[in-house]
Amino acid sequence: CGIVGYIGHRDAYPIVIEGLKRLEYRGYDSAGIALFDGTSLKVSKTKGKVSDLEACVETQISKTGNLGIGHTRWATHGVPNDINSHPHVSNSGDLVIIHNGIIENYDSLKQELIKRGYTFKSDTDTEVLINLIEEVKTKEGVKLGKAVQIALNQVVGAYAIAVFDKNKPEEVVVARLGSPLAVGIGDEEFFIASDASPFIEYTKNAIYLEDEEMAIIRFHKGIKVRKIKDDSLVDPYIQELQL
Ligand code: GLU
Repeated sequence: CGIVGYIGHRDAYPIVIEGLKRLEYRGYDSAGIALFDGTSLKVSKTKGKVSDLEACVETQISKTGNLGIGHTRWATHGVPNDINSHPHVSNSGDLVIIHNGIIENYDSLKQELIKRGYTFKSDTDTEVLINLIEEVKTKEGVKLGKAVQIALNQVVGAYAIAVFDKNKPEEVVVARLGSPLAVGIGDEEFFIASDASPFIEYTKNAIYLEDEEMAIIRFHKGIKVRKIKDDSLVDPYIQELQL
């Protein structure tokens, strides 16, 4: 399973697809992508290989957009099928997530959300997490990064996630506990991936998030890393990658 993301001035699509192919060695049963082109959010996902995803994209969505996140899934909750594939979108249609890992307490969180009127399309734990983030964001009136942090503090499990809000497409929020996550730092562009292989030809500078860290990545403003538990700011170590 793997995660790839891009935010910057280039077309996200080829970077995300090529990146997913480089992560194929990690094993997976489904693949998907979300692109934002300044106007519309486009999601395409399918059971099968990254090459099957490319075929779906050809018929389903346009490939434009400077913001994109892609995922290869190793199913843990819900069978491998198109609907259970990632990305998952929140009930409002605004928030998008990709997730590697497991949310162990997803069922109790899901029952709470159902009581508050949320509905679910998939059988995944991940769709519960994105709607929990949405519920926190709406109820507490906080920004996306804060909502992700509050939600993750209610979660038991393991994760590498990338989340964005189509109404605030200059920002991507990432977090990790148990599953790996690297952020490649370019010149007003950022790369997100399970390891550095998807972005090695674009930048040599990378931050490997530690467990229980999250990062708010802002296209023009840079990256801020925080501890998920106590909100303290982390001075991240920027590693120089070797070829
Ligand atoms: N638990 C999630 C799911 O089943 C993510 C699995 C993964 O790591 O790819 O959809």
